[in-house]
Amino acid sequence: MNNFRELSRKKLKQRGVQIDDIVALVYELQKDFCPTLAKETCLQAVNDVLEKREVAFAILTGIELDLGAENNQLNEINDVIKDDYSLYGIDEILALSIVNVHGSIALTNFGFLDKTKPGIIGNLEEEGKQKDKCHTFLDDIVCAIVSSAASKVAHDYENKKVL
Ligand code: MG
Repeated sequence: MNNFRELSRKKLKQRGVQIDDIVALVYELQKDFCPTLAKETCLQAVNDVLEKREVAFAILTGIELDLGAENNQLNEINDVIKDDYSLYGIDEILALSIVNVHGSIALTNFGFLDKTKPGIIGNLEEEGKQKDKCHTFLDDIVCAIVSSAASKVAHDYENKKVL
């Protein structure tokens, strides 16, 4: 069962998401709160998030639904997902399964990223508008990974300060 983690990383890459893009956003989110923050710390936090089994399953599920929509395999619900219908909302709900295991900082950051769409998140959204592409689930999943890793960075940084 462990190779689902490896597979989720591979699928992210295949769908155009590099770990470096995620790390860059985590750093941007936290650098003002953690003045001595290093990119390596952000990378470690992203790796920790991606190590969780439920995160791997959420990534794989979301990507398969996007692919299914791209290939017109999702029957009556296909166009709703393919066209990223604004009142669908299940893409955010799936991503919240990642956020929910990473605390309130993850939740508030998720809302912020979903609204502002910086970096790779905005790129995915733009690319998803192309006729043959669908990133309806993937953009929210990336928001969730970034916000969860940012939460981890915030907590670890605070722990070190206390020590
Ligand atoms: Mg979406």
